[in-house]
Amino acid sequence: MADKLHRPAARHPAARHSAAKGDSRLPRFSFEYFPPATPAAEERFRDTVQRLGALAPDFVSVTYGAGGTTQERTFKAIDWVRRETAQEPVAHLTCVGADRAKIDAIAEGYWQAGVRRLVALRGDPPKGSSGYVPHPQGYAYAADLVAGLKRVADFDISVAAFPEVHPEARDAAADLDNLKRKIDAGASRAITQFFFDPDHYLRFVDRARAVGIKVPIIPGILPIVNFERTCQMAESCKAAIPHWLLDLYADLEDDNEVRFPVAVSVAVELCRYLMARGVEEFHVYTLNRADLTAALCRLLRNDARAREIHIDEPLLLAGGLS
Ligand code: FAD
Repeated sequence: MADKLHRPAARHPAARHSAAKGDSRLPRFSFEYFPPATPAAEERFRDTVQRLGALAPDFVSVTYGAGGTTQERTFKAIDWVRRETAQEPVAHLTCVGADRAKIDAIAEGYWQAGVRRLVALRGDPPKGSSGYVPHPQGYAYAADLVAGLKRVADFDISVAAFPEVHPEARDAAADLDNLKRKIDAGASRAITQFFFDPDHYLRFVDRARAVGIKVPIIPGILPIVNFERTCQMAESCKAAIPHWLLDLYADLEDDNEVRFPVAVSVAVELCRYLMARGVEEFHVYTLNRADLTAALCRLLRNDARAREIHIDEPLLLAGGLS
């Protein structure tokens, strides 16, 4: 009897790795990649996408290099995902350095290739330039791009959001107005810049809801592959690095064995804190590596399953003990 009662809780190993798609109680993930630049990187990219595909992400997105420098590589990577995997490809597209006709043509190319989802961004100016200057015949900001893409075809569009305020914004309120404009122009979800203090994200969502932004705001999670590089990225987008994280990584850069579990633990704790407050969906910046992302997602789904057993099925546990 006890054995029979136990059976529903003990999932078949094959089901364990199956998608959270059919199981609304498990956290959901999307994964972001950058387009590979060399044949060897391309092979690694494909291998990583296949491996992380076992986690059945809601979608996988591929970035668009600063100033449109990866236009062809982004298209190639997205087209490969669409043709060779069962995963939903989402192409990033930016305003920088191109006129409207060119951007519209790229979007049309995606639509014709069967790609229905885009991330619409302003983009950053190329390295060495003094600041962002809109192309005279281009889309000036992401909100303009969203409206333009919607005119090309009925894409499902995601946009960027900044829990710690975009560095060029006049202030937090102006930045939130901008997010609202992007949603009003037709975007159906926002994905945030990475952060390490979960309260920044939670407060941001509260403020967004207060101004009438109703779409999902998916937290962007960056597992730390290289702490120094992470600090540089954080500096450029003005994401705060908390003191406890600096302390944690002091003298750790050369200790490869310890860095991996520490990086997993930092990301897991961040997501657990958010899950405990109702967040169910995460966008992971994979940096084209499978290991940290796979460990993070498996542990989070395991948490959700453990909770499910303890909360929903106490009798099954009791039966198992008899
Ligand atoms: P916008 O929403 O246009 O905002 C940019 C700034 O301009 C903000 O400060 C805003 O408040 C201000 N602003 C907006 N409208 C106006 C206006 N009318 N007048 C004055 N100020 C205004 N970059 C890439 O190059 N390629 C990528 O693939 C890429 N992917 C990303 C994915 C995610 C999830 C995130 C969070 C960022 C990504 N980025 C990418 C970086 C992004 O391009 C930069 O952060 C960029 O500086 C801002 O882009 P945005 O789309 O938020 O711009």
